[in-house]
Parts: sequence; structure tokens; C-alpha cells
Amino acid sequence: MNIKLLGAHNCESQNTKFVTLLIDDSLVLDAGGLTSSLSLSAQQRLKAILLTHQHYDHIRDVPALAMNFYLSGATINIYATLPVYDALTAHLLNGKLYRNFLERPEANPTIKFIVIEPHKAEQIEGYTIMAVPVNHSVPAVGYQITSPDGRVLFYTGDTGPGLADCWECVSPQLLITEVTASNKYEEFGRESGHLTPSLLKQELDAFQELKGYLPQVVVVHMSPGLEKEIEAEIAVIARDLNGSIVLGYEGMQLNL
Ligand SMILES: [Zn+2]
Ligand SMILES: [Zn+2]
Repeated sequence: MNIKLLGAHNCESQNTKFVTLLIDDSLVLDAGGLTSSLSLSAQQRLKAILLTHQHYDHIRDVPALAMNFYLSGATINIYATLPVYDALTAHLLNGKLYRNFLERPEANPTIKFIVIEPHKAEQIEGYTIMAVPVNHSVPAVGYQITSPDGRVLFYTGDTGPGLADCWECVSPQLLITEVTASNKYEEFGRESGHLTPSLLKQELDAFQELKGYLPQVVVVHMSPGLEKEIEAEIAVIARDLNGSIVLGYEGMQLNL
């Protein structure tokens, strides 16, 4: 499995993009940094988009990608849980802000939206995919992706602490998780459903206790202004855990 980080941050700027993961050039996890990262032909090769939750930084490029597909007569499959489907159809894909790509063109609408259920493994484009609920300020899931050759990735999306139930359900070799802020913002993290390095440490301790191993960990969704602090604090927990925990960055490629 080849995983490319198209975006690794929670703010967009010249040098940072919203978290978006591209798997084997065909599957996309979250869509905040999608269209500006890929050529039109690379966009055409996409088979499916999986959305973790409804927040703007994770869904922003859905209409932009849809317009590119619409103009070339292609279709794209988008997968998400029911609350995400409800939010997108009520506020974004309702024909008020832009063309309603769920209904146009009439004969073959550009977006095919497939509602998935948490904890139910689905076969999507040759991968086994399971959505697992995480703790955020709105309904949110992470995705476990298992490739045909048995390699396993878990991407948390946005989450706060309290992942014990989630860890019961997943066994990744690679964990891509969020760490939005540095340790001094722990209260903010608990309130808004985000992680800091020390909160991540507690979650990884629980993972190791339960599973008897630690996956390779890549951290995303950093606040750019806090990145230096986060990096230093992540280095400390990596030493404490004797594990591989690194910050992701735009353009990073991981081979699993
Ligand atoms: Zn969020
Ligand atoms: Zn976010």
C-alpha cells in the first residue's frame, strides 16, 4: 500500500493543506486538500472518497472535484456515515451553493453517495474497509483500510482522547492519527475533541497494553503555529514509548 499525504495540517496556506490521504493513487481519505494537490488526470484515476466527518477542513474539495468529474462525464463514489451524508446534503450538496452533483446530470449523477455503517467491514475497490467511531465534537469515524495483500492502515480522522473502544476493533501496522495542538492546550483538546502529544501518549499506552505492540505512528492535523512545539513533544513521547512516531508533511509518502 502506498500512502501519500496530500495535506497534513488543520489550516490552509501556501505551505500547508488540510489533511487528505491518497492511497495507491485511487482511494482518498478526507477531502480538504484534494483538488489543488492533484492534476486533472490524477483526479480522473480516483475511484472512491471516504469522509471521516462533516467539518469543512475535511470535505471542502468535494464540490470542486465533482465539477471536474462532471465536465468530463465521469462519476465518483463517496462513502461516509449517515450524519455526514445528512450534513452534506442539507448544507453543501443541496443545489444552493453550487450545482447539485448528487442529482446532475440526471441520467448519471456525478456523485454516487454511499452511506456506510460503523463496525461493518465493506469491500471497496479491492480493499476491506471498516469505519470505527472516534470522539470528536460531531459524529466522526476513523477508517481501517486493509489492502488485498493484508497490509493494515488505521486513520483516526479528528479525534479527542478516549479511544479504548476503538482500539478493540483495529490492528494496524501503520496508524495515522491527529495531534492538533501542543501539551499546554490539553483542556482545549478535551473540550473540542482533539489530541495533544501527551493525550496521544495515553492512547498509545492503552493500545500497547491491549494489543501488545505499537504500530508505526504518523501524526497529522497539526496547527501550523504550534508545529515546532508539537514536534519537540512528540519526540519526547517517541523516546518514552521506544516507538516510531513522526510528524507527517505535505508530499510525504509511506509504503506499507
Ligand atoms: Zn473536525
Ligand atoms: Zn479537522
